[in-house]
Amino acid sequence: MSERREVDVVVLGAGPAGEVIAGRLAERDLAVALVEDRLVGGECSYWACMPSKALLRPAQALAEAQRVPGAAQAVTGGLDAAAVLERRDEVIHHLDDSEQLPWLDERGIALVRGRGHLAGERTVHVGETELVARRAVVVAVGTVPMIPPVPGLADAKPWTNREATTTETLPGSLIVMGGGPVGVELAQGFATMGVDVTLLEREARLLEREEPFAAEQVGDGLKASGVTVLLDTEARMVRRGQDGRVTVEVEDGEPLEADELLVASGRRQVTDTLGLGSIGLEAGSPPKPIEVGDDLRVAGHDWLYVVGDANGRALLTHEGKYQARIAADVICGRDARIRGGAPPRVTFSEPQVAAVGHTLETAQQAGLNVRAVDVSTQGTAGASFHGKGTDGTSRIVVDEDRRVIVGATFVGADVAEWLHAATIAVVAEVSLDDLWHAVPAFPARSEVWLNLLQAYGL
Ligand SMILES: Cc1cc2nc3c(=O)[nH]c(=O)nc-3n(C[C@H](O)[C@H](O)[C@H](O)COP(=O)(O)OP(=O)(O)OC[C@H]3O[C@@H](n4cnc5c(N)ncnc54)[C@H](O)[C@@H]3O)c2cc1C
Repeated sequence: MSERREVDVVVLGAGPAGEVIAGRLAERDLAVALVEDRLVGGECSYWACMPSKALLRPAQALAEAQRVPGAAQAVTGGLDAAAVLERRDEVIHHLDDSEQLPWLDERGIALVRGRGHLAGERTVHVGETELVARRAVVVAVGTVPMIPPVPGLADAKPWTNREATTTETLPGSLIVMGGGPVGVELAQGFATMGVDVTLLEREARLLEREEPFAAEQVGDGLKASGVTVLLDTEARMVRRGQDGRVTVEVEDGEPLEADELLVASGRRQVTDTLGLGSIGLEAGSPPKPIEVGDDLRVAGHDWLYVVGDANGRALLTHEGKYQARIAADVICGRDARIRGGAPPRVTFSEPQVAAVGHTLETAQQAGLNVRAVDVSTQGTAGASFHGKGTDGTSRIVVDEDRRVIVGATFVGADVAEWLHAATIAVVAEVSLDDLWHAVPAFPARSEVWLNLLQAYGL
């Protein structure tokens, strides 16, 4: 090693989880080294959350204007796909992280560029630099796209979220493999820009972690955007021809052909490249998440913390950032713990699915005595100002023994912002009788809460 540096905390990975913990620790006057081998901001900022929303939002804004008389008459053209891609480039800062660097400088965080790995207790190697942590090492290395073992798939060099979210040109046609949130969002984003999209899902439904009605309503939304949705359809073989086109052979059906193929079938851990063996831990094969307790520490290694996707608890940016805040508190000597439970989650399609806590099925599986209450998302005076055709279902799942909400799902146009009220109700276990006195403003769409409570019987 040509250089040895001692700091209080070494953070491996500068995605959202790594950035948040580095910032919080530095603001409490700890000396922090942040190691990053690509771009400060991580997957979320450049290849995931941010560009995917940049691709989806323009069509949704346009659709809203077209739904509202008065505005609709002013809409004389269709979506400008080239402008959408330009705006996406702005959102991802043209894959340049220099705008992030002053934030690190202001907090005195030392950025170490390169790929880091553990090299014994409290020690991280990055190239020829040895970083020694007086207090803690935090692993925040995220995940990478997973390519499932379908014959020919890897050789066909499919798009992953990285190529899809940064493409400069649009294919004429696209097959999307995977009907989870990423597949759904990107399928719709490309379809709204004029691409002929076919989405394959091997299960009988989309969005398998959400309420069945949410999956159905999103399926209808995809079809309305021109996406061909094939459920119960498993890819058996993939090949890319001389002409660059991709063929996907499926079980029980004609082969599908398209200009491009996007794999959105989940994430793979990168724990196999972290030097875990140097401290007596195994990565597993395939590599597994690193297990942590509710204080985000690895058992038997009280100096080692894992936050974000790398601990496999919830592969969502806001959850990684929450874990980072808690881990920072623990490192600073506070008695902090994360609380479990199903986190808030949004699929930013049209219609959106915004959900927190249990679905009816998971609540029943957990042995809770629950009742689901459903109302129309559109059934408020406020909804009329957002135009016709924004329907969907809103559901609360009520624990009848405690009279509290243990889960909520809203499906409809632009419902993501409603979710936090439900998250507060679920996390704080606010009783229905108290919620009854939380009066939603008129004529706001949040009167859906009043409708839900009345439908429950209050
Ligand atoms: C298309 C798509 C859309 C998504 N949309 C949303 C959304 O809307 N909302 C949401 O909450 N979540 C979304 N997610 C999930 C979200 O992107 C992840 O949960 C989030 O990025 C995880 O943050 P992280 O900090 O754990 O890891 P990452 O963002 O993956 O960052 C990890 C960083 O560590 C670096 N790194 C890895 N190994 C090393 C090493 N050995 N040395 C140095 N650096 C290393 C990587 O280069 C990377 O920059 C989406 C995911 C995808 C794929």
